[in-house]
Amino acid sequence: MIEENIKQVEDNIAKACERANRDRSEVTLICVSKTKPASMVEEAYKTGQRNFGENKVQEINDKYPILPDDIKWHLIGHLQRNKVKYIINKVHLIHSVDSIRLAEQIQHEAEKADKVMNILVQVNVANEDTKFGLQVSETEDVVREIAKMPNVHICGLMTIAPFTDDPETNRVFFRKLKQLSVDIKSKNIDNVSMDCLSMGMTGDYQVAIEEGATLVRVGTGIFGERIYNK
Ligand SMILES: *Cc1c(COP(=O)(O)O)cnc(C)c1O
Repeated sequence: MIEENIKQVEDNIAKACERANRDRSEVTLICVSKTKPASMVEEAYKTGQRNFGENKVQEINDKYPILPDDIKWHLIGHLQRNKVKYIINKVHLIHSVDSIRLAEQIQHEAEKADKVMNILVQVNVANEDTKFGLQVSETEDVVREIAKMPNVHICGLMTIAPFTDDPETNRVFFRKLKQLSVDIKSKNIDNVSMDCLSMGMTGDYQVAIEEGATLVRVGTGIFGERIYNK
């Protein structure tokens, strides 16, 4: 099932790239394996996937030691400052930096680990009360502050669009994030590159690619529905 799903998603990505006149190599598929067992990650890994996304520190910690070490782990969920230390040496990219204080903690832990941590700044483009992320209007100022941190490198922006049955309704938000990244890029801020745009999930990744996504985060479309039991 996973192999077929990935084929379908890959096919959709290729087609979206074609529609947008983009090269397939500009888009990275992140397989969002949250709540799913390591065996399913392995199945996706065997088809050639190497980028996996998790939204909980605990789950990355559980899966990390038992899965191949060439996996690139992406932390896509809200990150608490006291948990930064557990993932600083495990994740390839933190997508969900939404405050200077969190970035300061990442700076602190990255310096101790003698590394530079790549991050994205999360923006709440749709202005939803329920979502984490910065307001569009405050993003540049926050980027400028984080840019001063030598062990933190901003690679771009991330957003979580509203849940919707009609992906077209999210196009405006993807376009807005892309525009914001172009605006910030034009400021040529030291230690900031705006090459990554993490946007698009199972319901809307094709539209996101048409609007410039370089990282799409697909969970359900690959691993099936998630069952949450408390
Ligand atoms: C769960 C999650 C996804 C994947 O969602 P699907 O709709 O299952 O593809 C993507 N991004 C974030 C931040 C998530 O938490």
